[in-house]
Amino acid sequence: DLKDNTIIVVLGASGDLAKKKTFPALFALYRQGFLPRDCKIIGYARTKMDKPDFEKRATSYIKNAEDNKDIANAIESFKTILTYVAGDYEDGAAFDKLRGHLEGIESSYQSKEINRIFYLALPPTVFIPVAKNLKEHCYNPKAGVNRIIIEKPFGKDLDSARDLLNTVKQYWSEDETFRIDHYLGKEMVKNLLVLRFANIAMGAAWDKNSISNVQITFKEPFGTEGRGGYFDEFGMIRDVLQNHLLQVLSVLTMERPVSFAAEDIRDEKVKVLRSIPPIERNDTLLGQYVSANGKPGYLDDETVPPNSTCPTFAATTLWIHNPRWEGVPFILKAGKALNESKVEVRIQFKDVTQGIFKDIARNELVIRIQPNEAVYLKLNSKTPGLYTRAIPTEMDLTYKRRFLEAKIPEAYEALILDALRGDHSNFVRHDELDVAWKIFTPILHWIDGVNGPRPRPVSYPYGSRGPKELEAFIEKYGYKRNSDAYFWPVTNMA
Ligand code: NAP
Ligand code: NAP
Repeated sequence: DLKDNTIIVVLGASGDLAKKKTFPALFALYRQGFLPRDCKIIGYARTKMDKPDFEKRATSYIKNAEDNKDIANAIESFKTILTYVAGDYEDGAAFDKLRGHLEGIESSYQSKEINRIFYLALPPTVFIPVAKNLKEHCYNPKAGVNRIIIEKPFGKDLDSARDLLNTVKQYWSEDETFRIDHYLGKEMVKNLLVLRFANIAMGAAWDKNSISNVQITFKEPFGTEGRGGYFDEFGMIRDVLQNHLLQVLSVLTMERPVSFAAEDIRDEKVKVLRSIPPIERNDTLLGQYVSANGKPGYLDDETVPPNSTCPTFAATTLWIHNPRWEGVPFILKAGKALNESKVEVRIQFKDVTQGIFKDIARNELVIRIQPNEAVYLKLNSKTPGLYTRAIPTEMDLTYKRRFLEAKIPEAYEALILDALRGDHSNFVRHDELDVAWKIFTPILHWIDGVNGPRPRPVSYPYGSRGPKELEAFIEKYGYKRNSDAYFWPVTNMA
């Protein structure tokens, strides 16, 4: 239920996120007819820009504009719904000017009901003044809705997150607030609910009786490359594990919700997260990349403080104390400057009962989140022919092969559309964030040297799979890598 008479205000419209993600997603929604009727978009930031400058910036990351006439035409028409207002973030008078601009557009709307969506594509340092100014100067108290969309980082630890959240809450209710974790907008993460709860075969094996261990992996093939200043303050755990990978974990492990309604789903996610104790130091492996093959190491980046101990790789094991998952290790691992680009969930099942089979490969279910979305199950099958041997093979649902015509939406398209519809299912609730910080804060304080010396990460070469210690770390939690030999002899199958 999209609402007519909606204006979307993108604050921080001159920035990186706005240019690369927000405006391209808004354009994709516009082109496919998913924006509300007569929807208008206002950019707001301090940078002085005239309308052509702003239009150019807002459309610069839209793909295929040069060689596709339809897209080029759609961009021209998209520009007609864009306007820009320059103003400061701390200055109430500037927000009065923004309200004047909103009212100018709204005066042409027929209905009395008007809707305002504020998207904060801004650094966290200005979240609070902007949330306050929007409420005090740009909130429409009459008929219609007001919503605010905010982006991570939501604090740096439990206390700072609580401060930030509670301050924003003074101005914006939970119902009006949409906290983005863009992993929740990814097609494969959304598919987890269907895979799990629409398949009796999956559901039956989804517990400690069948599953030995789970890895949720994020791999990036590049380092900080001159943007180390921002990264060094946060590190790999805050950047990826505490938010994105933990969100994947909660959808993967929660109990079946009563319905797909937002609060039913989020209740279950919070419940499973509350069953996870804070991470222990000895369940953690920290790494930092060093120069290799002509590529610079982390400390060679001039924007990184000298001698920084910031982890660019982190593996942590989480335990869920509930009847379904007791004893199953969930390994979250993420790193920069690795050998490939990949995000996946790898569920390794237990060994089959020994006896008729010896050293047979374990089943693995792999859910490839990006790139090249796929779900594949590694399972053993008899070698075709007169031999009685089992070989590991796969049942393979590779999206590109199975869904030839499908266009997989960008996460931001899906999420902005949800926010326009008022659907909170794929946004992070206040209490969800609180419990996520409880799990990670002790380990982060240890890494930050809050109560003692900072731990030194082990080093790994740029372009490798990660620290050499990773193998032993994963094995410790029961992961068995299938032997490279592809054939498994089977004794007396006949
Ligand atoms: P950004 O480019 O650094 O900042 C966005 C805009 O905010 C800038 O164009 C600038 O606009 C204003 N700004 C920058 N620094 C400021 C400061 N110190 N004080 C006041 N205004 C300042 O940030 P971004 O990369 O777009 O990210 C925006 C938010 O999204 C952040 O919370 C970030 O963590 C999050 N995020 C970003 C990405 C991404 O891909 N970039 C991905 C996920 C989440 P004016 O100077 O014109 O006012
Ligand atoms: P795989 O290469 O057999 O195994 C990958 C796993 O082993 C990852 O967990 C990886 O860890 C780890 N690993 C890789 N190299 C290692 C090493 N030298 N030492 C220790 N561990 C190592 O690939 P798979 O993903 O299980 O897939 C099995 C088969 O299915 C492959 O032939 C694949 O091509 C095929 N398949 C792929 C797709 C698809 O991606 N679309 C679909 C269907 C089938 P890290 O992640 O930590 O590096």
